[in-house]
Amino acid sequence: MKNALFVFHNTSETRATEYATLAAIAANLGAAGYSSDLLVLDATASSSVTVKHGGVFRSASAVKPDKPIGDGADYLVHIVGKAASEGDFSLIVGFGTISNRNWGPQIAAAHSAEFLTSCEVIQAGNANIEITAPVMGGLVQKTLSLEGRKAVILYSGDALPAPAAQDIVVQVVTEPIKPGAVRFVASEALPDSGGIPLRGASKVVSGGLGVGSGEKWRVIEEFAAKVEAAVGASRAAVEMGWVPSARQVGFSGQKVSPEVYVAVGISGAVHHLAGIGGAKKVVAINKDPDANIFKIADIGIVGDYEQILAAAMKKL
Ligand SMILES: Cc1cc2nc3c(=O)[nH]c(=O)nc-3n(C[C@H](O)[C@H](O)[C@H](O)COP(=O)(O)OP(=O)(O)OC[C@H]3O[C@@H](n4cnc5c(N)ncnc54)[C@H](O)[C@@H]3O)c2cc1C
Repeated sequence: MKNALFVFHNTSETRATEYATLAAIAANLGAAGYSSDLLVLDATASSSVTVKHGGVFRSASAVKPDKPIGDGADYLVHIVGKAASEGDFSLIVGFGTISNRNWGPQIAAAHSAEFLTSCEVIQAGNANIEITAPVMGGLVQKTLSLEGRKAVILYSGDALPAPAAQDIVVQVVTEPIKPGAVRFVASEALPDSGGIPLRGASKVVSGGLGVGSGEKWRVIEEFAAKVEAAVGASRAAVEMGWVPSARQVGFSGQKVSPEVYVAVGISGAVHHLAGIGGAKKVVAINKDPDANIFKIADIGIVGDYEQILAAAMKKL
């Protein structure tokens, strides 16, 4: 199944480079054997829209709502969801706009697909699609291989040069807005690794990128279990997939206020420190004597965490 659905929200601010960029991505996927269909959403269209370089798409359709849509969130989910259900798509591609970030995760969840946002490169090879996107607040570029998995991809990269393809004119179909197109079904707690909950813990042992790998993460868990502490993590460790996001400490994670906070292989970025301001004592283990974490630590140990924790385990 090598079919892609491109979704384009046409507004008064649409620029020609946006059509060119979508067409370029479609042409790129075409070289890898994908057929791409285009869905244009245009709340203000008259009877037709002109799609620049639209000849690159296998088919194109354009939809407008039958009444004003306000912020349009429910309407877009409804329209894109309908198109996605009617076709046999393995990829759904749009720009990383605020409105697309609204329907993107919902459509991905409904189709058991990956949701990849802020993508800067979509590389189509013979057998696979690779996506490059920034993580850790832009400090690192991560490249993911889809390996045939379904995905909703939101592109936020540079404008791309248009492929050699003709403009097309697409007739606009008016689609009625159904009230309550999106409704709340259920909520589910995010998975956790178990153990002592972070919230309210009197002792927390947190690991960071310095832990080195998912296999080595058990060193953090074993040490935390030994001293009866909750396991925490920096966002970098969470983004590496070593630990569930429910364990993230910091600005965009949980705020903790334990008696003792042990930071292992954590540099002490301001976003992490935002979560540990309430800790009574901070113990930091880091091999870099200049690491920022030592500026706020009550006890600092410079060295390799594996050796230090192994020595500590022997004494406990
Ligand atoms: C909007 C925004 C929100 C954010 N929210 C959060 C948040 O909630 N929580 C959070 O943590 N981050 C958050 N971040 C990310 C934050 O800025 C840092 O990128 C992140 O905290 C770095 O994680 P780290 O310390 O594990 O990794 P790094 O900064 O890479 O540090 C790894 C450390 O490990 C040390 N090390 C390496 N090997 C060893 C070893 N063998 N033994 C001992 N030490 C070793 C290194 O010297 C280094 O100091 C946020 C960023 C943004 C932009």
